[in-house]
Amino acid sequence: MKIKSAEFETSAPTIASAPRWTLPEFAFIGRSNVGKSSLINLLTERNALAKASVTPGKTKLINFFRINTNWCLVDLPGYGYAKVNREDRADFNVAVANYIEKRDVLVHLFVLIDSRLTPQKIDLEFLNWLSTIDVAFSLVFTKTDKVSMNAVESNVALFKSTMKSFMTVSPKIFTSSSTTKRGRKEILDFIEAELAR
Ligand code: GDP
Repeated sequence: MKIKSAEFETSAPTIASAPRWTLPEFAFIGRSNVGKSSLINLLTERNALAKASVTPGKTKLINFFRINTNWCLVDLPGYGYAKVNREDRADFNVAVANYIEKRDVLVHLFVLIDSRLTPQKIDLEFLNWLSTIDVAFSLVFTKTDKVSMNAVESNVALFKSTMKSFMTVSPKIFTSSSTTKRGRKEILDFIEAELAR
């Protein structure tokens, strides 16, 4: 898919103030610092579409970007904030959970995982919750340029085997790197195929 246009549409703190449209949405989520802004910028070829926040967890809003006029990319606040107070964090988890569970135009959720790490509790907890609700999702292992392909493969395999304890069907897996552009074509092709369904 060629990205002809990518425009910031709006930010919303909760699903109640999200745009009322029928555009299909593809959302991105992951712990802070996983490389979500970098991946969104890579996919859209816009260097600062998703601004990397200075303070981890500062981006608390759900951000909507209209792509090519026919779909919407949604940047969800990261989970696992280090510097956000308890109250904000609770609010956010509820807003994000509501978006994922109830947003009827949500087509697919990409869950970003740092490919350098063995399965982390916070990601597994999130995936465990995700497996209990009716949402199509896949995993994107980020920053693959930072480690050997062996390490990436071994972490992916470890993830798959760990997920088997709470998931019957293994989700689709992508690998990405914002420096080598790995994964860009695969993710955009996947979105294109979903749009054509
Ligand atoms: P976010 O908090 O999830 O939006 O993460 P960012 O996109 O801001 O990335 C966090 C840090 O990791 C930044 O310093 C990025 O430059 C770096 N980073 C993100 N993706 C990659 C990648 O694929 N390769 C490398 N080498 N660094 C990355």
